[in-house]
Amino acid sequence: QPIIQIKNVSKVFGGTVKAVDEVNLEVGRGEFFALLGPSGCGKTTLLRMLAGFEVPTHGQVIVDGQDMSKVQPNNRPINMVFQSYAVFPHMSVEQNVAYGLKMDRRPAKEIKERVAEALDLVKLGGYGKRMPDEMSGGQRQRVALARALVKRPSVLLLDEPLSALDAKLREAMQLELVRLQKTVGITFVIVTHDQSEALSMANRIAVMNAGTVQQVAPPTTLYEMPANRFVADFIGKINMIEGDAVAAGDGQVKVTAPVIGDVTLAGTATGKVALAVRPEKIFVADTQPTDPAVIAVKGKVGEVAYFGSYSNVFFDIGLPQPLQADISNVSSDIEEIIFTAGEEYWVYWRKSDTLVLG
Ligand code: ADP
Ligand code: MG
Repeated sequence: QPIIQIKNVSKVFGGTVKAVDEVNLEVGRGEFFALLGPSGCGKTTLLRMLAGFEVPTHGQVIVDGQDMSKVQPNNRPINMVFQSYAVFPHMSVEQNVAYGLKMDRRPAKEIKERVAEALDLVKLGGYGKRMPDEMSGGQRQRVALARALVKRPSVLLLDEPLSALDAKLREAMQLELVRLQKTVGITFVIVTHDQSEALSMANRIAVMNAGTVQQVAPPTTLYEMPANRFVADFIGKINMIEGDAVAAGDGQVKVTAPVIGDVTLAGTATGKVALAVRPEKIFVADTQPTDPAVIAVKGKVGEVAYFGSYSNVFFDIGLPQPLQADISNVSSDIEEIIFTAGEEYWVYWRKSDTLVLG
């Protein structure tokens, strides 16, 4: 049985703002799950409904098999680490972490042991007597984590927990959160608008847009098989060429697009579609490729950006949007290729690497 079940949950603010729109989600025990989407898409609202700080307008939140509609936040087997990781400034680290257990009237000996254990988990053993203003932003964030973990929740909710940290510290903390989650084994649900953060940390991701869930899948599936244009565009870079598709049987569609012409591809979307291909799936050649398994077009080099191991090259292929290709500088079959604006090449990619998105 999943630890979290969200059934047809909606949240309407002030009668008009639909922050969360008929969301269905399940999170398994021990998962590191991410809610990913642009700012304002309803991630925090969904998290707050899980924690019990917000009441759903419709639908049901079930945790560990129990309907949460009548359960107060402090009685839920859930703890939340907030975006602005507030710690009490006038309390020492120890007192901050002990606070929740004191409220629960746990015995002093137990509190002492559990606080020490929680501080060890977040690598703050020995920092108990410090005051928050004697610590860095990253350390204060760990105090907030310890304060949530000390209650031994079944589920830990984290709302953009790393957004206040600088880039380098953020990367280090991403690894630490993954390690921490493995160590404690409890279910983590993290909210982020940063796709690389979600891809690198979570074992499954729900991509949200405008209050709705667009796709729920492991990182590799989201990247390789996005369900629609929104997901394809939000996760990584992708080229899209507009076309029209008709069903061609056997899970295939025939797509007609300018410049490319007619091509039969695996897919189900029909009508107005986008042919989508990732920049790293594109190759260049001096002569026209003859392999029937590829789509090839003539391209004229436009902007080029050199990144050491690869170059990001924009090709004008006679469409309104240029085609961008990430071309490896180490494994290219053309030796030591240097792209210069105005040069013409054949640009090609495998049909099997082409997505047909509705
Ligand atoms: P996210 O966390 O993905 O950035 P939020 O859940 O904070 O998104 O917000 C989703 C939408 O709901 C936004 O349009 C936001 O303005 C609106 N919203 C959130 N909280 C409230 C509230 N308490 N009252 C009115 N509107 C709200
Ligand atoms: Mg938010």
